[in-house]
Amino acid sequence: MKRDPGCIFCRIVAGEIPCRKAYEDDDILSFHDIAPWAPVHVLIVPKEHFVSFYDVGEAETPLLGRIFALAPRLMKELGVTNGFRTLVNTGVDGLQEVPHLHVHVMGGPRPWAKG
Ligand code: 5GP
Ligand code: ZN
Repeated sequence: MKRDPGCIFCRIVAGEIPCRKAYEDDDILSFHDIAPWAPVHVLIVPKEHFVSFYDVGEAETPLLGRIFALAPRLMKELGVTNGFRTLVNTGVDGLQEVPHLHVHVMGGPRPWAKG
């Protein structure tokens, strides 16, 4: 499994930086965003280091499928039943700040702080 020791999300995956976990299995970690846009704002990340959406190929299709399939399940578990946003920022023009592939999942009653 690829890992970048300087990557903040690899360090969260490794337990070197604390997070508020929402879900974990062998391949995927989900945790609450440190600066939430919405009442519920989690990130879902592959444990393996992929820089961005550009970095995944055919081999990652099952992993991506599992990440997206987790989103509605997690929202329901976290009490979000009235809809949610799912967002993947990719690269510079996509305003990606953390270069480890992650899916934002945001929900809860409006108004939101952002988005
Ligand atoms: P991006 O702009 O790359 O799509 O979003 C990165 C997200 O990661 C931002 O929403 C930011 O608040 C969140 N984030 C950055 N550093 C940390 C951290 O150390 N812990 C947590 N939980 N979230 C972080
Ligand atoms: Zn990483």
